[in-house]
Amino acid sequence: MAYKINDDCLNCAACVDSCPVGAIVEGDSKYDINADCVECGACVDTCPVSAIINE
Ligand code: SF4
Ligand code: SF4
Repeated sequence: MAYKINDDCLNCAACVDSCPVGAIVEGDSKYDINADCVECGACVDTCPVSAIINE
């Protein structure tokens, strides 16, 4: 299981400040979660389109 951002991401950046370890970063076409993620789940409910998933 790992947190990921899917293609529904609107690049709104609303999730970025919710991450305590700065693991949400701007990618080529959407935001991405990098290997620093500690799987706390804090970012999930900040996304207006539910693009942050745990799979
Ligand atoms: S699950 Fe927690 S550590 Fe991982 S990206 Fe979301 S807020 Fe950051
Ligand atoms: S809050 Fe959702 S739509 Fe906005 S940048 Fe984060 S993952 Fe993308």
